[in-house]
Amino acid sequence: MIKTDILIIGAGPTGLFTVFEAGLLKLRCHLIDALPQPGGQCSEIYPKKPIYDIPAYPEILAGDLTDKLMEQIKQFEPGFTLGERADTIDKQEDGTFIVTTNKGTKHQAPVVAIAGGLGSFEPRKPPISNINNYEGKGVEYMIKEPEMYRGKDVVIAGGGDSALDWSIFLADVANSVTLIHRRNEFRGHLDSVDQVQKLKNEGIINLITPAEVKEIVGNDKVEGVVVHKDNEEPFTIPTDHFIPLFGLSPKLGPIADWGLEIEKNAIKVNNALDYQTNIPGIYAIGDVNTYPGKLKLILCGFHEATLMCQSAFKRIFPDKKYVMKYTTVGGVEGFDGTKKEAPKAVIKKIE
Ligand SMILES: Cc1cc2nc3c(=O)[nH]c(=O)nc-3n(C[C@H](O)[C@H](O)[C@H](O)COP(=O)(O)OP(=O)(O)OC[C@H]3O[C@@H](n4cnc5c(N)ncnc54)[C@H](O)[C@@H]3O)c2cc1C
Repeated sequence: MIKTDILIIGAGPTGLFTVFEAGLLKLRCHLIDALPQPGGQCSEIYPKKPIYDIPAYPEILAGDLTDKLMEQIKQFEPGFTLGERADTIDKQEDGTFIVTTNKGTKHQAPVVAIAGGLGSFEPRKPPISNINNYEGKGVEYMIKEPEMYRGKDVVIAGGGDSALDWSIFLADVANSVTLIHRRNEFRGHLDSVDQVQKLKNEGIINLITPAEVKEIVGNDKVEGVVVHKDNEEPFTIPTDHFIPLFGLSPKLGPIADWGLEIEKNAIKVNNALDYQTNIPGIYAIGDVNTYPGKLKLILCGFHEATLMCQSAFKRIFPDKKYVMKYTTVGGVEGFDGTKKEAPKAVIKKIE
């Protein structure tokens, strides 16, 4: 049994920043995430895209934001259960909660903060019967590290922005890029469609439409894909990677059955106070919650996490008095013994 003060479900930017705010209050945190790495949407969907609306960062890559958050919370030694989905929650007689994952790991805490974003990400998979056998062996549903395709043959399938943008990007990296779409028209930005067409005309991208990949071939990894094109015999394209980019479908999943008030696939919270749900002791912060005027933005998640931690402190220590101190006044003292002292007061002499 993993025991902690605040159990955070979801290690996206909101969940990660919660660790920092909780740490300032000397509360320990443990995070569960269905993904194998922290960062939520930032690391899973768009790690290489710049974000422009993080205060004090005119521009920061989503992946770098995750790294910075990890650095900022290191001193508070959060625990992580990664690659496991929080499935069930049981309230105990002493008021604490036990959350169990799909792999049976149990966590106990007096406060649960759901920072589950849009939910656990499930890629929309194409209907190819043997595709599961090749996942992690040449089939990827998201591009996390473009460098892994350097010098390789790549087949991308899809008709939206992701498929177009990555085809253009990988044209400079991979040995060959083939883009396959089941229609002649693309759903992406006109600029991207034009650029793909230009790269096709220059012989840099191999564009096959209207066509579908119906089978993957290869012994213990992807070696080729079988393409079906209208009025043609099916043919095989040799490739190292097959990347179907049909989007991700986030699912609130098992959390939807926890007895929480749900509205439009999000958890209703008391935003006038502390982002608590209808079950006392369970909070919902970041993209996963809803209230009048809600904005699904990273900085809103940070704000909600901050207020939520104050309420969690009062719940865990009802008799302790807490006086809010600026970090510039109180400093930051990590559980790992590190100390960032507040600067001594500067008294400005008035002449
Ligand atoms: C392409 C794109 C561009 C964006 N650009 C911007 C931008 O410029 N500025 C901005 O502010 N925002 C932007 N956003 C939105 C921003 O990414 C989100 O607001 C932010 O990620 C929300 O953070 P979060 O921590 O609340 O949730 P998420 O980042 O969604 O993280 C939630 C985590 O919870 C996990 N989870 C869910 N359910 C469970 C479960 N049952 N068990 C275990 N784990 C679970 C998920 O796996 C996920 O890792 C963008 C989003 C996208 C997709």
